Formats: sequence, structure tokens, C-alpha cells
Amino acid sequence: MKKENSIIIIEKLKKAYPDAKCSLDFKSPFEMMIAVMLSAQCTDDRVNLTTPALFAKYNTPEKMANAPLDELEKLIHPCGFYKNKAKNMKLASQKILKDFDGNVPNTIEELITIPGVGRKSANVIMLEAFNNPQGIAVDTHVKRLSNRIGFSKKTEPEKIEQDLLKQIPKEYYKDVNHIFIWHGRNICSARNPKCKECPIFDNCKKIF
Ligand code: SF4
Repeated sequence: MKKENSIIIIEKLKKAYPDAKCSLDFKSPFEMMIAVMLSAQCTDDRVNLTTPALFAKYNTPEKMANAPLDELEKLIHPCGFYKNKAKNMKLASQKILKDFDGNVPNTIEELITIPGVGRKSANVIMLEAFNNPQGIAVDTHVKRLSNRIGFSKKTEPEKIEQDLLKQIPKEYYKDVNHIFIWHGRNICSARNPKCKECPIFDNCKKIF
């Protein structure tokens, strides 16, 4: 897709979702990183119900690195995959203490060395915690929309992101990270896309 057409689509979606933003609650880069880890295979609403009790006790790498694993597991149980997530939360905290002076690093290259943080999470952390978007986080919504609208024919998130980055100017990375997810939740859902109500009906290739 030509960049001009991408911009038309993005501007239409921005108009449709003027309040689109990250729906995870956090107060620091560390809380952001943990919330993103918990959001894998879990809704943001459920993560937001879980993190207040977790962060009341363990809101720094020091505290979480020393937390009893079984207590972390109990606290995050509602988010699913709690054993793996709790283990990664501790390992990530230890890594941040050991290699990054106790601070969540602010580059993609460093972030992806942290246990439990892949490229998608690193993109979200760069945008939400540091207000410095470096790419586009390809989650299930962004993947579906990219395929349907015609941005990418690929299925692997990394390849879809590369296709998106070629077609979308950098100044729109922040918007795209938010509006695609909101559009996926509200109109272009997996099972029942409401194409007749869609603000980008005329621009979408509707590839199903
Ligand atoms: S026209 Fe349909 S397929 Fe295309 S973005 Fe809108 S809802 Fe999704």
C-alpha cells in the first residue's frame, strides 16, 4: 500500500477513536513491563484487576526479585499461565538488577534480552513507558487488521511489523499502536467484523 493511502486510513481511524490509548494501568516503567508480561493471553481488564494487589507489595525490581515465587503465583493466578509468568517476572527483575542498574532499559535491543520480553512487549514498553515508539507492536488485533486491510499478507508478527513500517510514516507509529487495537476490539473483530459500520470500508481490501 502507498504511504498516502496508509495515512488516509490512519487519519480516518484517529477520527473514529480520538481517545484511543493504552488500556493497561501502570505508574512506572517497571510496572508497565510487568503489566505487559501479564497481558499475554489475558485481557487488559483482568490485568488491571490483578496488578493493584501485586504492585502494593512488589513494585520494584528489588522487591520482585526477592519475592517468594509461590506468593507471586497466587497474586497473578487470574491472569493465566501464572507459573511461567511468575518465573519470568522474577528472572526479569534479577536481570534488571544485574545488568541495568535496577532500571528498565529504554532501547528495544536491551529490552528483548530480558526474560519474558519479546519484540512485541518491547515495542509496547518503548511507547507507553518511555513515549518513544520504535515500531509497531503486532498483537492479535494488529495482525488481523493488517491482513484484512491489505497492509501485509504475512502471518508472522515480525514480518507483519516490517511490512507496516515500510508503509506507515514514523510519526504515526504511536497512533497505529492504539487505533488498530481499538478498531479490532470495536468493529473489526475476529468473528463478526462490522464492515457496514466501518469508517475505512472504502479503503479496506477486506481480505478474509
Ligand atoms: S471493512 Fe471490514 S474487514 Fe475492513 S477494517 Fe473494516 S471491519 Fe475490518
